[in-house]
Amino acid sequence: MKLDRPTMSRLTAAAVEIERSWLGFSCPPLSERLRMSPWSLEERAAACARCGATSGPNASDGEGCAACRDHKLPWEHFVRLGEYEGVLGEIVRDIKFKRFRTLGLAIGQCLGDRLLTAFESASIDPQTVWIVPVPMSRRRFVERGVDHTACIARGASKSCGAAFARLLARSHGSTQLAVVPSDRSRNVSGVFRVRNRVVRRPHPRLIVVLDDVRTTGSTLAAACRAIRKSFPRQQVPLEGPIRIWSAAVAVASLSNSRGPGS
Ligand SMILES: [Zn+2]
Repeated sequence: MKLDRPTMSRLTAAAVEIERSWLGFSCPPLSERLRMSPWSLEERAAACARCGATSGPNASDGEGCAACRDHKLPWEHFVRLGEYEGVLGEIVRDIKFKRFRTLGLAIGQCLGDRLLTAFESASIDPQTVWIVPVPMSRRRFVERGVDHTACIARGASKSCGAAFARLLARSHGSTQLAVVPSDRSRNVSGVFRVRNRVVRRPHPRLIVVLDDVRTTGSTLAAACRAIRKSFPRQQVPLEGPIRIWSAAVAVASLSNSRGPGS
């Protein structure tokens, strides 16, 4: 993997500033963890911009990569920081299982920086964007004590200038971690619904559905479909259809996955 050192320096400097100015050092600082690890922010060409899978330079184009070209996806663009491995995997697990909220905000800000670059490339005004976290059920929140994805989404919202919106609610069911990959799509089918009281005008032009990790893509796909159901393409004819993107801190590879939307 080619390293993007100048971008990494800016990323690390931003992480230091974020933590010093308003997060405090109540958890292992993101900047230190990144500096002490061999991890470096990957180049955007390292992943397919359509499905988010690791593809490598020239292995994907506007139509996607070999893994997604024949699949219909409920989002049009995918933004990620890297693969679910090494320090990035450790950071995600610490946010999720050790309740390191400040770490979630900080890595969310890094993802927000990457989103902002993608908005600029697509000529999208961040003020017309909502960042929507994939929600957990109320019962899961009580068990875990932290809505880690919401922490990450809040950080992303702060750094890219898009609005944070808890647009989705989730009914309780088995965690995806307890379900074999082939059953994950069925496990999350129908569990998401749009919270109508959150829907306010003006409508966004783009909704970015954000999760901590994308594995098979089933969870993000179910969340995107719930949103599309409430915002059908013809609903806002004067403003044009609401676009949907997906984003995740990390993407996990799964050798027996049939595809990113499975
Ligand atoms: Zn792809």
